[in-house]
Amino acid sequence: MAPKPIITVAHGNGIGPEIMKATLRILEAAGARFDIETIEIGESVYQRGFTSGIEPSAWDSLRRTKVFLKAPITTPQGGGFKSLNVTIRKTLGLYANVRPSVSYHPFVATKHPRMDVVIIRENEEDLYAGIEHRETDQVVQCLKLITRPGCEKIVRYAFEYARRNNRKKVTCFTKDNIMKLTDGLFHKVFDEIGAEYPELQKEHWIVDIGAARLADTPEIFDVIVMPNLYGDILSDVAAQLTGSVGLAGSANIGEHIAMFEAIHGSAPDLAGKGIANPSGLLLAAVMMLVHLGQTDAAERIHNAFLRTLEDGIHTPDIYKPEVSSQKVDNAQFTEAIIQRLDLLPQRFQPVSYDHAPATPIATWKPRPPADKQMVGVDVFLDWAKGSPDDLACTLRSATNQSLALSMITNRGVKVWPGGMPETFCTDHWRCRFLPAEGAKTSHDDVIQLLHKVQSVGLDFIKMENLYTFDGEPGFSLGQGQ
Ligand code: NAD
Repeated sequence: MAPKPIITVAHGNGIGPEIMKATLRILEAAGARFDIETIEIGESVYQRGFTSGIEPSAWDSLRRTKVFLKAPITTPQGGGFKSLNVTIRKTLGLYANVRPSVSYHPFVATKHPRMDVVIIRENEEDLYAGIEHRETDQVVQCLKLITRPGCEKIVRYAFEYARRNNRKKVTCFTKDNIMKLTDGLFHKVFDEIGAEYPELQKEHWIVDIGAARLADTPEIFDVIVMPNLYGDILSDVAAQLTGSVGLAGSANIGEHIAMFEAIHGSAPDLAGKGIANPSGLLLAAVMMLVHLGQTDAAERIHNAFLRTLEDGIHTPDIYKPEVSSQKVDNAQFTEAIIQRLDLLPQRFQPVSYDHAPATPIATWKPRPPADKQMVGVDVFLDWAKGSPDDLACTLRSATNQSLALSMITNRGVKVWPGGMPETFCTDHWRCRFLPAEGAKTSHDDVIQLLHKVQSVGLDFIKMENLYTFDGEPGFSLGQGQ
């Protein structure tokens, strides 16, 4: 028999301790084998001055055990506190957030009786880099970072997950009609890697219409992979469509460490009442048992859970007199599951983890770097003293021989040359400088240009060099939409 694994457990805040107690009781009764290291995270740790809600010693435990079962925590209100979840995901490289959303019709009321969707959300990048700046009096910005390694890992994970779990289709959601470079890279990688999985159907939806279809006809989707922000929002929508956020568990998978948790928060409105639904954390723990290779216990628990739902034994969040036989509290729900550990569901398809695949671990393939050439610069200015033509006039007086002003945009809309008087302008300007046709440019040219811009009294707030990669422009060209 394999040695008993050690897992790290955090009991969390609000309803966290009560749903963790219920979950651990069921795991123990089902014969799951592990020892526990307990760590403290969340509210009290934030209040002791740790701005991410976790103490240094807790990281040691996570890195030692490599498996984390986490109850929800409460993030204190007010500035200065960082999201513990985002910190853990990014620090430990948990790049894949796997969120299954399944309907339990007719026992849990839902408008979508045939829903069985797994959302695979990129978990480390996108707007969650948390790099924000106030650049002018009127304008703040947040940097959206999408990387090729990040796209390759999450997209390959999604295809591997689909293949190993006998899923039929992988859908990709992006907004690459607008964000052609960032979301465009995600879509491109989806097409490239998808070609290696000929047995799976593949499709891409622009996220807005994709989200509308998910809310309306979720049964047309199977596995959906998407960048971080869309996945954050749409995985909550998907869970709610099944009937209750209290029912969904999730896994956060990295190359070295994995974290398992319910998708909901600490529900302070229910804390201490003993009526919270422990199912989300319990199903996360089932995913953890499969990850640990303890498929017998995972199967017994999952089937007992389905049987309990079928028998109409429901916590208040899913209780409906038409389908429920008994409204129970958290402890009674827990006991009902334990009593059914040797039973199979009769209406739902019993779950089988007999041949459950190992958790896919996706890596990325380093490629030879592209040929990178500097072909110009965008200089961003904080300026509020006149019209775009006035700004162009001042800038052209500063232009040096090697770089000439070619375009000014405001919030991405071209306002010079040939701007429209109706365009609303803020105090944040992007001024594009290009060398004469065919000429090269250099960092020295840019430094000289910045000196000249400063010499005519303009406040440059940042610049972005313009590069081509293997001859392809690595910057947006046009007017924005
Ligand atoms: P929430 O998910 O805690 O609650 C939303 C609603 O769902 C509430 O009405 C709640 O009663 C209900 N609900 C949630 N879990 C339930 C369960 N198991 N059984 C029955 N009903 C349940 O979201 P919120 O109110 O926005 O956030 C509360 C706190 O949780 C905040 O401090 C937030 O920062 C934190 N939070 C933590 C996590 C996490 O630790 N992973 C995730 C989300 C929110």
